[in-house]
Amino acid sequence: MTHTEPRERLLEAARCTVALGLNQGTSGNVSVRDGDGFLITPTGMACDALAASDLVNVSSDGTVAPGQRAPSSEWRLHRDVYLARPAVGAVVHAHPRFGTTLACRRQHLPAVHYLIAVTGASVVRCSAYATFGTEALSAAALEALGSSRACLLANHGMVAVGRDLDEAVQVASEVELVAEYYWRASQGGEAIVLSEKEMADALERFRSYGQPPS
Ligand SMILES: [Zn+2]
Repeated sequence: MTHTEPRERLLEAARCTVALGLNQGTSGNVSVRDGDGFLITPTGMACDALAASDLVNVSSDGTVAPGQRAPSSEWRLHRDVYLARPAVGAVVHAHPRFGTTLACRRQHLPAVHYLIAVTGASVVRCSAYATFGTEALSAAALEALGSSRACLLANHGMVAVGRDLDEAVQVASEVELVAEYYWRASQGGEAIVLSEKEMADALERFRSYGQPPS
């Protein structure tokens, strides 16, 4: 594996979050575990304007070697997820419209659609509120994440994680879709939430769903 490979993959994933409508302008950030630390998108730059050389290597203690751009203001959130969840290989943070709408109501996303099983849980929890970029936000996000692959951040946005970039982007995209279904289905009254048994069956199927790992 050459050193440039993770940069190309991260660039592609960051562009993907824009193409999927998960992020707009300079909002949101994507990272991938890289050696002892991780590689993350820089702060204040639109994803579709990024070059591979704009991506920033951050070590596990938060150090950024000189000569690089400043990392995303949420680098600490990404770092703390990698420290707390050894199996996580990539993190997507986004401000997608429907997930963030629920987060502004500090509402959990319930299982109104079986696709929520992509998170490995039957609810996407909304964290307590904390200022962006702070240690308190990391703690709130980790608590809401638990062992699942996604959470909402109160009055802020969403975090999705995966074994790799493809999975993290897919989780973010599916959670946003379920948030949209929930929001739309709630317009005419209360949406019907799948029962524990119905979700247990869906989660079981998801465990054996898809292509075997290569
Ligand atoms: Zn944010």
